[in-house]
Amino acid sequence: MQKKVLTVCGGGNGAQALAALAGSLNGWEVRIYAPWQDEAQKMREGLRINGGLETVGRYGGTKSRPAVITNKPAEAAVDSDLVMLVAPAFSHRPMLEELVPHLPNGVIIGAMPARSGFEYMAMDVLKKHNKKAVVCGLQTLPWACRIRGYGQKIELMGKKEAVGLAAVPASAAPKLIPMAQEVLGVNVYPIDNMLAVTLANIGQVVHPGIMYGLFKGYQGELYGEKDIPLFYQGMVPKIAAILSDISMEIRNTALAINNQYPLLAIDAVKGVEQWLKESYAHSIEDDSTLTRAFVTNRDYDGLKAPMRKEDAGYRPDFANRYLVEDVPYGLVVTKAIADLAQVETPVINEVITVGGRWIGKEYLLDGQLIGQHVSETRIPQNYGITTLEQLVNFTVSGDIRGNVHLVDAK
Ligand code: NAD
Repeated sequence: MQKKVLTVCGGGNGAQALAALAGSLNGWEVRIYAPWQDEAQKMREGLRINGGLETVGRYGGTKSRPAVITNKPAEAAVDSDLVMLVAPAFSHRPMLEELVPHLPNGVIIGAMPARSGFEYMAMDVLKKHNKKAVVCGLQTLPWACRIRGYGQKIELMGKKEAVGLAAVPASAAPKLIPMAQEVLGVNVYPIDNMLAVTLANIGQVVHPGIMYGLFKGYQGELYGEKDIPLFYQGMVPKIAAILSDISMEIRNTALAINNQYPLLAIDAVKGVEQWLKESYAHSIEDDSTLTRAFVTNRDYDGLKAPMRKEDAGYRPDFANRYLVEDVPYGLVVTKAIADLAQVETPVINEVITVGGRWIGKEYLLDGQLIGQHVSETRIPQNYGITTLEQLVNFTVSGDIRGNVHLVDAK
């Protein structure tokens, strides 16, 4: 039987977890595309030492050898059936730009997690290179995982019961489920469309929202080690209110779109409180309020705010993913969609403004998405989508005029 080819893109925790697990399946040839720094070489070296890429820990127990580990896009891409990007959102476009020219038509290209606006960018790269593919995105990474020896061992500490997947065109999602389940080894359920994935991206609510709540009055002072705030369990009613407001603005956006185009399964776009209680049902001791649900969630025990150590103490780490990923590839995209749906987002605007300043980026000017760094984000307007109708057409078909012009997956 001819094996299918999975190209895993990235050299971090999630990428190595996926490569290790899928590599132990009979029907798949796994290739790792690791173009960042000298990761490909480091990984080959690790593999040689350990005799394979191994999953360890509570959900581990496999050992396999990827067929290819490379930083050369052609080697990774030729004849690929499924390309999965498992890396921070800011690395998605550079990797696709390199790979797409070498990919066959009909390939499936996914990101895990997709974050927000992946589909607009991916279709743009495909169009530029005159390639046709099915694009998909997963809501989350199925595992909590950490590398324990580069190219050698990955610890799987947690595993989700199920993860959601959406696609462009939207109708392709159910057809992709069996393949996704086989490769990931977890239950995968179809989500109506990628717009739901974008709006339901809970990281954009929780991460920038808590950073804003904890540090909005920050004046440059140093923290002692014992003064570093807990990130989730440092929740207080004022910060919980910020998260609820962001969440409400996102839900209002989803509702406004749905009122005109019954497109989104509105239930997919959960409020933060519902999401937290459902996701951590067994770990929360007191769910009487959003604040208490964060504070008493055992899975958050001891997790502190991201800080940078200096000689004399600690400062908030504003270069952390909680901002550099979740603002431009989260909240900014949502704000752009809210604009198309004519929904006001005062709290999201405030968090984008302050979070943007912390990471040295200007997205909003006078409440408008016309700041100098907007072109770096994945807002639909950057890809020619300037009306709600075009957004809806694209979401359903992958084309702003509503033509389905994509080929079926191989
Ligand atoms: P990671 O921190 O291991 O990713 C780092 C890797 O990304 C690098 O090793 C490199 O391969 C790649 N990378 C970084 N900068 C790059 C650049 N400029 N150009 C090209 N490649 C670059 O990430 P991870 O832990 O694998 O997580 C991947 C995604 O999944 C992230 O969005 C993360 O937030 C999310 N996530 C991770 C976990 C987890 O347990 N690891 C859990 C939930 C969600």
